[in-house]
Amino acid sequence: MTLPHFKYHPDPLASGSIKLSEAVCVCCERARGYVYDGAPYAEADDLEDAICPWCIADGSAHAKFDATFADDHHLVGKVPDAVTEEVTQRTPGFSSWQTEEWLTCCNDACAFLEPVGTKETEARYPAALPILRAHFESAWGMDAEEAETMCRSLHRDGSPTAYIFQCLHCRTLHAYADCD
Ligand SMILES: [Zn+2]
Ligand SMILES: [Zn+2]
Repeated sequence: MTLPHFKYHPDPLASGSIKLSEAVCVCCERARGYVYDGAPYAEADDLEDAICPWCIADGSAHAKFDATFADDHHLVGKVPDAVTEEVTQRTPGFSSWQTEEWLTCCNDACAFLEPVGTKETEARYPAALPILRAHFESAWGMDAEEAETMCRSLHRDGSPTAYIFQCLHCRTLHAYADCD
């Protein structure tokens, strides 16, 4: 069974947002082999590790539970409303220490690639290192040395963590980091 395609989250297995599971989806009531890792934003409190990717992709989890999978505060006003809706209502989100920020570029939401530590950034996204250095200097108010130290202290499964995005149009990598 092939996972549905998510334009703004192309490999949710690699990012860890979708995982293998025998659980029955609370939305379609079928065990489809995969579920969303974590809980969406919703009133119901029994949605953790319980929604299959197909019910995210076709909007049925949003329709049934009024669930959203990402916060819209970094999207509204920067991208068309239809894009904000696709990202928040029909795309798997990602777990982060603080409220997630979905980055934008070229008037569109970027594709979220994966959470990374220093090791993964150096191995797979070396171009993101100067972006993160600049992020630590501008958003975290660090000097160059502190920013460099922070770039070497990132953990995919610890804190701080960096999040890698890529523009679907100009292909530029974008990244930010947060901590607990
Ligand atoms: Zn389902
Ligand atoms: Zn772009």
